[in-house]
Amino acid sequence: MKQGKSGQHVIPATGMSAQNIVTSFDEMSAHDVQWRDGKAFSLAYNAGPEVLAVAEEAYKRFSGANALNTAAFPSLRQMQGEVIEMAGVWLGSPTTAAGYFTSGGTESILMAVKAARDQFRTEASITHPNIVLPTSAHAAFDKAAAYFGVELRRVDVLPNWRADVAAMAERIDKNTILIVGSAPQYPQGVIDDIPALGSLAQRQNINCHVDACMGGVSLAYLSRLGHQIPPWNLQVDGITSISVDLHKFGYTSKGASVIMYANKRLRSYQGFFTDQWLGGVYASSGMLGTKSGGAIAAAWAVMHFLGDDGYLRLTQSARGATEKLANHISGHPHLSLLAQPDALLLSFIANDSQRLNVYAVADEMWKRGWYIDRQEPPQSLHCTVNAIHESVIDAMMVDLDECIAIVLDTDKTGDVGAYGTL
Ligand SMILES: *Cc1c(COP(=O)(O)O)cnc(C)c1O
Repeated sequence: MKQGKSGQHVIPATGMSAQNIVTSFDEMSAHDVQWRDGKAFSLAYNAGPEVLAVAEEAYKRFSGANALNTAAFPSLRQMQGEVIEMAGVWLGSPTTAAGYFTSGGTESILMAVKAARDQFRTEASITHPNIVLPTSAHAAFDKAAAYFGVELRRVDVLPNWRADVAAMAERIDKNTILIVGSAPQYPQGVIDDIPALGSLAQRQNINCHVDACMGGVSLAYLSRLGHQIPPWNLQVDGITSISVDLHKFGYTSKGASVIMYANKRLRSYQGFFTDQWLGGVYASSGMLGTKSGGAIAAAWAVMHFLGDDGYLRLTQSARGATEKLANHISGHPHLSLLAQPDALLLSFIANDSQRLNVYAVADEMWKRGWYIDRQEPPQSLHCTVNAIHESVIDAMMVDLDECIAIVLDTDKTGDVGAYGTL
């Protein structure tokens, strides 16, 4: 690659060949986690090469199409609408519900907070709003609070890692606009008591968002596979909005999530509109202006390609792998689960963290190509298990045990790392 005088990368004087670009990609990604082979237990979701090919073909075809104005792209309007309606079934949406397609869980959460803020500002004159939520709710709520000038009131979870609804009730005051529960929460993979949160919100006459970014697809199918799943979606009284990430267990390309509101009035507070610009009227539903058709088309394509029976099958595969891993850890001499997984996420600690540093275990696993998420508190490892893992989970557990033996032998230590980086 060309470098400028001070070592910075410069645009080539004459264009590179397409073949050389592919070669550069191969070189640059040589040390990336090999998620297509099932090596990632975080960040990537994979239902195998066929599904990936469908998503990539759709993405390619619409990557330059722009959903900023669907008058020019009626295809994208239709696909967004149909994706939202299909996801709406998973989310138990009543006929009054209305949603938007967003770029991901973070945008869905940002928009739920923004809609609640603007609704209560307009309808109840609340100018110093706050949100009450458990410490387990996703960091995207901190981002939303920072972006939109909302106070966040984090409340400790119960010993079983679920939201402490009684303690949350104590923190609600006249400026509270929203409470939050997760189905499931990311860190320990357990589902909050959504009916209790919904009924608390109803009593207080405030909004309640369910973060089903992880569970929105898998919980719908786990119930149908006969698992006992407590109520978690828009069917629960008092739930005013819910988010589901299609780029997670929907197995589509990155940049796809749905935010669904209980009614159109609440959804209307998500939008932005101005006519104070020489460019004319500008309206948009979410954070983005230009919005690639790629992610929309990929979501539409994968959902139609898989169908109900495809998602049922993939959820069964992922749950099988989750249970295998959970049982292995439960019976392990050196590890303990933090909670029995309610869905497809689990986390575990060392029984003796002085003797066994779990981050060092993650380092050893990474040397073998396995990417496992690290978190704290407490010092733990986290696995997001998806369909591709069915074929590799036995090999992963063998490597896990070998890596644990290495760390016990050598007293290695490691660092916590980060869920996201700048
Ligand atoms: C992934 C996730 C988010 C954030 O979604 P992004 O797609 O990463 O922006 C929010 N909540 C939960 C529970 C998640 O797992």
